[in-house]
Amino acid sequence: MSETIFAKIINKEIPSDIIYEDEQCVAFRDVNPQAPVHFLVVPRQAIDKLQNMTAEDEALIGHLHRVITELADQEGIADGYRVVVNSGVSAGQSVFHLHFHVLGGRSMRWPPG
Ligand code: 5GP
Repeated sequence: MSETIFAKIINKEIPSDIIYEDEQCVAFRDVNPQAPVHFLVVPRQAIDKLQNMTAEDEALIGHLHRVITELADQEGIADGYRVVVNSGVSAGQSVFHLHFHVLGGRSMRWPPG
């Protein structure tokens, strides 16, 4: 898998507003926020898209969700927020390093576009 802009952020080769990091993942604010709170939770391991995760990644994906709940508390959106994964070009994925969008701080509509 070729290196993406998120690998450069994880490796601190380019700046970003990092709000959390541990040995498995990094979370930083989206540069083009779609809600008052919009951050991305990204595994250090470079999986290109959710569809290509394997059984070996199950614990990692669970960990990312645990981190999301902790960051939702930290960011003051625990009462209501949306977690989005775009898997594949037709879903709107533009960076091919798996990431979970977390959006909150406003009312959300359904269905999404
Ligand atoms: P996707 O379209 O792949 O689901 O989401 C990619 C997200 O990454 C977009 O919301 C976009 O705004 C964000 N993004 C792209 N490049 C950068 C960057 O260099 N820094 C940060 N913080 N976010 C980025």
